[in-house]
Amino acid sequence: MAKVAAPTLNYTVDCTDPSRHIYRVALALANLAPGPHRLTLPAWAGGYEIEDFSRHVFDLAVQDAAGQPLAVDKVAKNVWAFAAPAGAATVTYAVYAFELGTTRSHLDDTHAYWNGGTLFFYLDDLKELPIRVQVRAPAGWHASTALAADSHEPLTLHAAHYDELVDSPVEVGTHRRYEFRVDGKRHTVAIWGSGNQDDAQLVQDIRRIVEAEAALFGGLPYRNYTFIFHIAERGTGGLEHKNSTTCGFERFSFQPAARYRRALSLIAHEFFHLWNVKRIHPDMLGPFDYTQEVHTHLLWAMEGFTSYYAPLLLRRAGLYTVSDYLEALAQDAQRYESQPGRYVMDLSRSSFDTWLGEYHPNEDTLNRAMSYYLKGSLVGLALDLEIRSRTGGRRSLDDVQRLLFERYGQYDRGFPEPAYQAAAEEVAGGSLAQFFGRYINGLDPLPLDTLLATAGLALTRRWKPAGDEAASRAVPPAWLGITTRTEAGRLFVRTAYDPGPAAGVLDAGDQLMALAGWRIPDASALDQRIPSDYRPGDPVDITAFRRDRLVTRRVTLGAAPPTHYQVERVQRPTAAQIATYQAWLSAEWPRDDA
Ligand SMILES: [Zn+2]
Repeated sequence: MAKVAAPTLNYTVDCTDPSRHIYRVALALANLAPGPHRLTLPAWAGGYEIEDFSRHVFDLAVQDAAGQPLAVDKVAKNVWAFAAPAGAATVTYAVYAFELGTTRSHLDDTHAYWNGGTLFFYLDDLKELPIRVQVRAPAGWHASTALAADSHEPLTLHAAHYDELVDSPVEVGTHRRYEFRVDGKRHTVAIWGSGNQDDAQLVQDIRRIVEAEAALFGGLPYRNYTFIFHIAERGTGGLEHKNSTTCGFERFSFQPAARYRRALSLIAHEFFHLWNVKRIHPDMLGPFDYTQEVHTHLLWAMEGFTSYYAPLLLRRAGLYTVSDYLEALAQDAQRYESQPGRYVMDLSRSSFDTWLGEYHPNEDTLNRAMSYYLKGSLVGLALDLEIRSRTGGRRSLDDVQRLLFERYGQYDRGFPEPAYQAAAEEVAGGSLAQFFGRYINGLDPLPLDTLLATAGLALTRRWKPAGDEAASRAVPPAWLGITTRTEAGRLFVRTAYDPGPAAGVLDAGDQLMALAGWRIPDASALDQRIPSDYRPGDPVDITAFRRDRLVTRRVTLGAAPPTHYQVERVQRPTAAQIATYQAWLSAEWPRDDA
């Protein structure tokens, strides 16, 4: 019996004409079975948003082994079909790439960057085959990616299968490249662009992040890892992959220290994802079905807990002081408690509906939705402190993460959704049905005060009058209950809090003109005059243009929700509180050393 050779898939990506922002791509197929074949390009690639990358594809053609054109049909927005006899065929096409973004592709005379989902088709039934990618680039360009490269030909890359190809973004150009090793594993930091960052400091701090996260999980589950950083005029955000991440930073976002801490927090977040989401994940999240939305109820754990861990791990790495950490926590608590949507959307639905909501906010989002990032990170805190309290400090959320990694993540195996709660209960040593019912599947307010008290901490909620940062008051000032936006010097209502004093009275889009008959020159005038000149319960007339028509509406001012949250140590802690504080924050009570 003759052995049939397996089909081979060889891509060539030509970026030698970067100024027109067009990749010329060829897919050489050999040992192809006869029959109709379908070429599918992902509609999304990790960003929980349908991005329809096929809108940038043009000039697609297929030739047989003799170079004769074959008939091609476009059969769906992202699917092309062709019939080929057995043997070889070559697919050629062009991709316009001029979008800088972690899930997108960009090509100009300074570099080439691609997320594989924008560039590479798959053939049904051939997704498990290895793929070779040869990059043709201008002279002097080098590649940084988690894909394996030929040692003698560094622009020839290899993916074990299609999922690895799409999960491994590639940066090609003259970017700066730094390397360090942790646990014998090579880490590459590839930086395109610059601003007010200090490369050496950044690389040193990333190493500490890697070490802190490796300590949590007891090792690093990859051969090598690549950080691709884009430093540009706009666009902060990151996308996680199994063995790499792409992070975008605004050019001047590395100074002062508070902004730099946020940059480090993004890196710690994306790096944590190599476990949480890329290896520890519900069935639906890996490998992705790239053609359509995939739904999970667990993004509060996948994204929210990752957001909980990022600053906590920076604390463990010594890159946040206790004060830095508690300040970030207080800000999250304030954002969560000031959002009416926390009484409308539970975390389970927030996760399921991410395709509708999280990346498509509108003026009503504040009132009707709750982010699984924000509340999810506070639920991470709550669950961590709950487990520490129940087990007398012997176990923590770290043990849940490790358990899920040992049981599923290290084998690249998804789990059924109930397995998450089961793992947490196994670690906690008892039922968490009430916890999950109230805070994840329900709308109960998070008991932040009670939980923080277990670590000897108290949350204080106060008001700071605008323009007087030194002052602080314990009683609420008057409140109009809107957020605003300014466009071309004109001030508009963005959202009226609902419930709130302006709900049903002022509309999103109203152009604010006068307060009690006096012109409103800008947002700060509103912020200052309402708390200083009025009290909660006072009526006030607001004049606004509503769709070009001048209207005056009377608002009965409310009491402002607290604007200034602080987490502070209690005066007389118990031994148990001190022990929880020290174990959780990796710090001695009450010292605050980095
Ligand atoms: Zn994330």
